[in-house]
Amino acid sequence: MLPVLDQPAPARSLARADVADRDWSSWRWQLRNMITSGDELARVLDLAPAERDGLAASAHLFRVGITPYYASLMDPADPSCPVRMQAIPRAAELDIRDEELRDPLGEDHHHPAPCVIHKYPDRALFLVVDRCAIYCRHCNRRRLVGGDAPPSASDVDAGLAYLARTPRIRDVLISGGDPLLMTTEKLAGIVGRIRAIPHIETIRIGTRIPVVCPMRIDDELCRALRAHAPLFINTHFNHAKELTPEARAACERLIDHGIPVGNQTVLLRGINSSTRSLRALFRGLLRARVRPYYLFQGDTVIGTDHLRTPVDAAIELYGSLRGWMSGMCIPHLVIDAPGGGGKLPIGPDYIVERHPDRVVVRTYRGELVDYPEPRERDCTVPYDRVYFAGQPADDDREGSAEAAPPL
Ligand code: SF4
Repeated sequence: MLPVLDQPAPARSLARADVADRDWSSWRWQLRNMITSGDELARVLDLAPAERDGLAASAHLFRVGITPYYASLMDPADPSCPVRMQAIPRAAELDIRDEELRDPLGEDHHHPAPCVIHKYPDRALFLVVDRCAIYCRHCNRRRLVGGDAPPSASDVDAGLAYLARTPRIRDVLISGGDPLLMTTEKLAGIVGRIRAIPHIETIRIGTRIPVVCPMRIDDELCRALRAHAPLFINTHFNHAKELTPEARAACERLIDHGIPVGNQTVLLRGINSSTRSLRALFRGLLRARVRPYYLFQGDTVIGTDHLRTPVDAAIELYGSLRGWMSGMCIPHLVIDAPGGGGKLPIGPDYIVERHPDRVVVRTYRGELVDYPEPRERDCTVPYDRVYFAGQPADDDREGSAEAAPPL
C-alpha cells in the first residue's frame, strides 16, 4: 500500500462526474456545491440503512453539509469509512442520553458579550461566523453552528469592544463556525482589529478548512493572515485518510508563509480509536510539519454517545503512542470537563511509587525504574526579583487570576 502522503489525488468522479478543473479547485465552487441531502449522497455512495435513517432524521438533528472534495475521499462501498462516519449522520444520533448536553462545555455561562466566550483567565473565544464547510457529526458546538442566526456586524463590534476593555485577555481564538469561510478581506479586517488591541499578544484561528476544502488556502489569504503575526492556525484532522496531497499542500502553504499550524484531533470510536490509526495520523501530520496538539476525549454533546471512546480505552491507546514514536508527534490527551471545568490532561500514570528520596516510574515498555529525588527542595528562582522587577505578578493583570465569572 502507498504511504499516506503519496496517495493519488482524490477521485473527483466520486462526487461530481463532470467537474472542470477550474471549478473543482475553486473554494467558492466547493461551497456552492456542498452536498446536503441523502438523495445527493445516494447518487455517489452505496448508503447503509443506518446512514439512510440518519439522513432522513437529520433535519431534526444537525444539518448535513459536505464539500464535494471531502465527499470524494469517502469509500463509496464501505460505511465504516472514517470520512463517511464523520460527515454522514447515523440513526444512533437520535438515541440521546440524559447525561448528554446541548452545551457540554458550559460555554453559555461564560458569555459576557456577543460573540465572546470568556472561560479561562487570559484567553477568549471569538465566534464570528456560524457556518462550516462540513457539519461534523461529533461537533460540540452544534447548538451554535448551521443555524439561522449568524453573528451580525454589530455583534462582532460588541465582541471586539469587550476584548478591548478586558486587559487580562492575552490570547484570542477566532472560531465559529469556520472563520475561513469569510472572505479574506472581511476576516483580515476582524483579525486586524484584534491585533490593534495592545494587550492581545497572540491570535489563533480554529478551522477545518485545510481538511475539507484545502483549495481555500491561497496565497492571498496566507499573506493577509501573516501580516498579523503572531497568529496560529489550529486545524482538525481526525484520520490519516484526510491527509491528501491537497490538504498537506494547504498546511504547508500556511507554514511557508510563516503561520504555524497545530492540530486538534477528537478521539472517535470506530473512526480513529486504534493505535494504528492514531500513529498514522500523527506521523502524517508531523511529516506535513503540522504539530499534533490535543487529542480530545469526546465531549458529552447530545447525539454523540455512539462516537465516544471509554476513558480507559483512551488511556490505553495513549500509552501505545508515548515512547513508541517521536514526542513531537504526541498530542496532549485531554477531557474537556463537562460544565466548563476546562481541559484536563489524562493518561497513563507513569509514577507508581513515591518515597521521600525517590519515585518509582514505569517506562513505556513497562519496566520499573528508580528516579532519585534531589537533596535540595527549594525551587525559588532568585533572579526573578531582578528580571521581573516592577512588573505585577503574572496572574495579577487587572488584579485577579479569576476567569470571567459566569453571568
Ligand atoms: S468544523 Fe468545527 S465547528 Fe464546524 S461542525 Fe465541524 S467541529 Fe463543529
